Amino acid sequence: MRVLVLGAGFGGLELTTRLSDELGDDVDVTLVDKSDDFVFGFSKLDVMFGRTVPDAVRHPYRDIVKPGVTFVQTTIRSIDASARRVATDAGTFEADILVLALGADLDPSATPGLVEGGHEFYTVDGAFALREVLAEFDGGRIVVGVTSTPFKCPPAPSETAFLVHDMLVRRGIRERSEVALVMPLPVPIPPSPPASEAILASFAERGIEWHPNTVVLGLDPVTKTVQLPDGASMPYDLFLGVPKHVVPDVVAESGLCVDGWVPVDPLTLETAVPDVYAVGDVTSVGTPKAGVFAEGQAGVVADAIIARHRGLDSAQYDGRGICYLEVGDDLVARVQAVFVAGQTPYGEFDPPSVAHAEEKGEFGSDRIKRWFGRDWAATAG
Ligand SMILES: Cc1cc2nc3c(=O)[nH]c(=O)nc-3n(C[C@H](O)[C@H](O)[C@H](O)COP(=O)(O)OP(=O)(O)OC[C@H]3O[C@@H](n4cnc5c(N)ncnc54)[C@H](O)[C@@H]3O)c2cc1C
Repeated sequence: MRVLVLGAGFGGLELTTRLSDELGDDVDVTLVDKSDDFVFGFSKLDVMFGRTVPDAVRHPYRDIVKPGVTFVQTTIRSIDASARRVATDAGTFEADILVLALGADLDPSATPGLVEGGHEFYTVDGAFALREVLAEFDGGRIVVGVTSTPFKCPPAPSETAFLVHDMLVRRGIRERSEVALVMPLPVPIPPSPPASEAILASFAERGIEWHPNTVVLGLDPVTKTVQLPDGASMPYDLFLGVPKHVVPDVVAESGLCVDGWVPVDPLTLETAVPDVYAVGDVTSVGTPKAGVFAEGQAGVVADAIIARHRGLDSAQYDGRGICYLEVGDDLVARVQAVFVAGQTPYGEFDPPSVAHAEEKGEFGSDRIKRWFGRDWAATAG
């Protein structure tokens, strides 16, 4: 059986690892990604806030040596889903089963003034460049703002506001600074009211302004103002933005999207095209766009492929995922969330602790061990 996995992020790495562990050389898996290396989303914040250095959080794909798996570093140019054929800069690939795990691309230029007058912290380059900008910041008003929905890792802007606060305190410039968070959500973690209450209380304690149910439409770099809906605005000295999310161009052109994302069966992750699956941020499956959910969905597709190989039935997706949320002071809270199609999402909240910070570190280290076969100490906190 030939399996072609497009994208070696959370979803693609988990899928290929599971297939290799279970089936080894019995399947022929090709994993394609244009990047040199994988970087966890949370490592972007670690670099940005000076807790580690860029080289320590890059995991080179050349380290992937797994039975049955061939990694090809190249850019995918077109996807013919019904033929399960993909054209790349390294030639054409065909498969019996095609899995799209190409994530969400980011488009900072879609928000007027963002590129000229602000910074974004969602791309690797953007987050890493902010390390120096934040280190040199000498006090003033920092606005953390989301420009559109959907966006990856809904807790990340809240974590960023907490980490900005910590940084300002550490450097003795909190007194002459302000921190504001502009969010499209009504509360920080919608599926978990206790988590949201705790976070809002922590924002209030730290003097972090909370602006819910709104988005940043643009920035005026001349007047240094953030434009909000209905003509409202707010001043900023430093803007840290979450840019607009879109599917990669090659997915948009594949004919697989409806309303901008790839629809899938929420239980099996199958697309409308036979033997073509999609997992993670590229889909509109109904879970938040986060690595833990991409990983869980990849597990279901792995089960389906393994079961098909062995002539068995496979399990369905249960929509579960654990989100770790940094709240500053090196503490991490945990939300165990469940998103099942047709049901109200819910999340169990475990308050911030050092133990959860360590667990988050182990989460990262465990993935790197399984996916890349090497030891890595993720930053805990
Ligand atoms: C600041 C921040 C913090 C985060 N924190 C967390 C967290 O704590 N927990 C969590 O679960 N999630 C977190 N996330 C979200 C998480 O990073 C993503 O949701 C997750 O990576 C999605 O996995 P994926 O497999 O769908 O896509 P991705 O991991 O984005 O992988 C997609 C891959 O496709 C490749 N690709 C795209 N187009 C092409 C092409 N044309 N040719 C070849 N290759 C291509 C890309 O290079 C990429 O490697 C965070 C995100 C950010 C930005």
